[in-house]
Parts: sequence; structure tokens; C-alpha cells
Amino acid sequence: MAASIALKTFTGLRQSSPETTVQSHRPTTLSYRPLRISAGKFSPKVTGRNLRVAVIGGGPAGGAAAETLAKGGIETFLIERKMDNCKPCGGAIPLCMVGEFDLPLDIIDRRVTKMKMISPSNVAVDIGRTLKPHEYIGMVRREILDDYLRTRASDSGAKVINGLFLKMDKPVAKTAPYVIHYTSYDGKSGVAGKRESLEVDAIIGADGANSRVAKQIGAGDYEYAIAFQERIKIPDDKMTYYEDLAEMYVGDDVSPDFYGWVFPKCDHVAVGTGTVTHKGDIKKFQLATRLRAKDKILGGKIIRVEAHPIPEHPRPKRLSDRVALVGDAAGYVTKCSGEGIYFAAKSGRMCAEAIVEGSENGKRMVDEADLRKYLEKWDKAYWPTYKVLDILQKVFYRSNPAREAFVEMCADEYVQKMTFDSYLYKKVAPGNPLEDIKLAVNTIGSLVRANALRREMDKISV
Ligand SMILES: Cc1cc2nc3c(=O)[nH]c(=O)nc-3n(C[C@H](O)[C@H](O)[C@H](O)COP(=O)(O)OP(=O)(O)OC[C@H]3O[C@@H](n4cnc5c(N)ncnc54)[C@H](O)[C@@H]3O)c2cc1C
Repeated sequence: MAASIALKTFTGLRQSSPETTVQSHRPTTLSYRPLRISAGKFSPKVTGRNLRVAVIGGGPAGGAAAETLAKGGIETFLIERKMDNCKPCGGAIPLCMVGEFDLPLDIIDRRVTKMKMISPSNVAVDIGRTLKPHEYIGMVRREILDDYLRTRASDSGAKVINGLFLKMDKPVAKTAPYVIHYTSYDGKSGVAGKRESLEVDAIIGADGANSRVAKQIGAGDYEYAIAFQERIKIPDDKMTYYEDLAEMYVGDDVSPDFYGWVFPKCDHVAVGTGTVTHKGDIKKFQLATRLRAKDKILGGKIIRVEAHPIPEHPRPKRLSDRVALVGDAAGYVTKCSGEGIYFAAKSGRMCAEAIVEGSENGKRMVDEADLRKYLEKWDKAYWPTYKVLDILQKVFYRSNPAREAFVEMCADEYVQKMTFDSYLYKKVAPGNPLEDIKLAVNTIGSLVRANALRREMDKISV
């Protein structure tokens, strides 16, 4: 039952891409394999220059995409509207991102090795016990991470433009260019921008949850959560408690369908929560999250208040001709955890790799088939992760008794190991059959207790 609910919500993400027009005319059978067009083989050569690609948006998705394109011989333009953008974000990144994206340790504010999961009745379970000495969750400030990735793209040869993307004119012929229109700024505040245009051969839309590129290609909408966060500077002795520790709170008070968090940053903590179903109550949930953490943040001063949408699932369409969406613009945030930084950077890189490959390092024109390779690879790698987290959210975030059961389960070392391994390394950890059976029995036990408790609570409230 949970699986069928999950499938219904994953309209934009399938193991074989729904955007594949060739496939959509044919019956879907297991034996059918789509025709594979060898990239670049028949596509015309680009003469007198290299392939030109514009990346719209300079967050983790855009920065990673632009760096890969530039290194791969593509003439790359990265357009970011605000160079000092502080993206509202908890800033938690998995360990594998540090290695895969070669992030220097000095851009990581904190290395979290202890995590407390706190139930509706304030039962706290420590869930970092299985971490090995070198393992941690990285905590970054987005203004630092994003700037670092953009600078690296620029050092690799991308032209970084401070500009607001407005719209694009579509190509008038098969291999004709797109014309991008944007307002360019010279970085000085108060100075009015100048309207500019730019011709490119392909576009990567990395412009986040409110993506204009997505609108331009008619990518369709997604359901979204609204997430709210306050950065709170707390006294030094309180900060010591959060030195290497993060907290997650669950309960109807902090969110009906998500969780509240306290994440440590360099000299402050980020306290936040989110919801899809009760967006109008977000400030009430934020207050409740602050109240739950009250003793530990006492004397704190709010230094920044921020809010932003978080996509709930991929857009119905993520690709059109020579335009592809990545990161939040595509809708790649996992349910349950609300994690999107790694997936943004990874999708940006994968999409850029598909363009570099398809164009033979910028020497040939690309087409939709080249870009679709990125979607196929992406869906194959991450579709199961998204599905599992979607189901988990539906099972465990639906009521306070279910959340109590969830926190109880988190006390199990095996659950912790599996969860952390999957989070830190973005691979589904191979299980131990005996422990898997024990876990299944415990899960059922917890859920039965949760249901019984809910029935009792329903009786009380009648
Ligand atoms: C409150 C909150 C907490 C979160 N916590 C976490 C967390 O702890 N860990 C985690 O992994 N994920 C977290 N997320 C999700 C994460 O922030 C996103 O998934 C991630 O930022 C997506 O990266 P992106 O590059 O796709 O988009 P963004 O980071 O949104 O970057 C888009 C960029 O495009 C620019 N842009 C937008 N429009 C234009 C335009 N028209 N022209 C030019 N530039 C434009 C923006 O200025 C921005 O720099 C959180 C989200 C929220 C809202």
C-alpha cells in the first residue's frame, strides 16, 4: 500500500525517462529497449569556436555544472543574479560530497558526529554511535560553499556573469542558437542593471525552486514544502554543546509532515522547520521548534530569518530540446530528510558530463538525445533512494505515535548504521540478512504499538 502511494507521487521520476518521446509512442514492455543514438556521431561539427553553454543559477548545481563544462572544453557562461546570495538552507552535506567534489575542509564550519533524534514526547535518541572516527556530516554556510564552487568554475575557464536571467528565444532552426536575455549588474549596489543578450547552443537550468528556465520550457509544477529557518547566535557555553552535535525534532507541534532541526554553524546555530501541508502555520511550527530547544539556545539572538520553498518531487518534464534542468529546478530533493545540496551538485555535474561527452569536448553540436543520457543515468542511480525515503515519510511522519515508533527504531544500532551509510555515501548499504529480519520484526512491533497508541489517543480526544 505504501509503495503504491509512493509510485503515484513520483510522476516526474521514472527509471526510464517519461520525457523520452520515442518511447512514449510504444507500449512499455520489459523487453523493449529504446534505440540508442550514438552521441555526436552524426551531429554537425561546430566550426571556428567551441560549443557554447549557459548555466543559469550559481548554486551548487550551477557551480558544479559550470566547472565540469569548462574543464571539458565547452565555452561556458554561468549567470548568477546575486553573488553573495545566502541561500536559506540547513547546510548539512554528506561525507561523500567532500571527497567527490574535492571540498577543502576550511569551508566546512562543523563536523557533526553526534545527532539527536527527539520524539514528540521529548525522548532523545543518540544516532551517531556507529560512525567511524573519520566519518561526519559536514555543516556549511551556503554563501561560502556556493562562492567556492563558482570561483572554481571561473578558475576552470567559465565566464561568471552577475546577471538576472529573464527569458530565452528558442532556436529558429535545428542547430540554431538560443538567445538568452538577462539584466547584467556590475556588482555595485543601487546601480541599475543593463539589458544584455547572449547566443548559446545549450542551456542548463540550475536556477533553483522558482526556476524561470523551467517556466520557459513548460516543465510543469511540483508540490513544494515551505521551509523556515532562523540563524541564532547563542552564548559560547551553549555553543560548546552544539560543537559537533545536531538535533532533529519530530512531532505535530514542530511540523505535521517534516521535522524541526538545530544545526551548528561556525558561530551560531540554524534552527528551522518545514511543511507541505500546513504552509500558513509555518511560523507557529518555527516557534514550537525554538521552544523545544529552549534550554539549549537560551540567551540566543536571532541574526537572520530566512524561508524558501523545497521541491517535493521532480517536475513532470526536466528536458526540452537542448535545455535541461538540474538541482532544485528539476526537483531533486529527498523526502523525509529534505536533502538537496549533494543532489544538486551531482545532477549539475552529470548533466554537464553528458554535454561534454555528446559534443566530443565541445567540437560538435549536441541534441536532446545527448542531454537525455544525463536523465537516464540520474534516474537509474537515484530513483530507489527517492522512493524509499518517500515511503518512510508516509509511514513514520503521519502521527505522533508513528513518530515515537520511528525514534524508538532509531535507537537500534543496525538501523543507525544502515541509515548513516546510505546518507553519508549515497549508496544503499548492503544488509545483513539476520539483522534485516530482526529489523523487520522490530519495525512491525513499533508500528503495531504506534497504531494501538494512536487508537487510545483518538479515544481520549473524542
Ligand atoms: C530552509 C532550508 C533548509 C535546507 N536544508 C538543507 C540541508 O541541510 N541539506 C541539504 O542537502 N539541503 C537542504 N535544503 C535544500 C537545499 O537548499 C537545496 O536543495 C539546494 O540549495 C539546491 O541547490 P540548487 O543549486 O539546485 O539551487 P539553489 O541553491 O536554489 O541555487 C539557485 C541559484 O540560482 C540563482 N538564480 C535564481 N534565479 C535566477 C535568475 N533568474 N537568474 C540568475 N540566477 C538566478 C539563485 O540566486 C541561486 O544562487 C534546504 C532548503 C531549505 C529551504
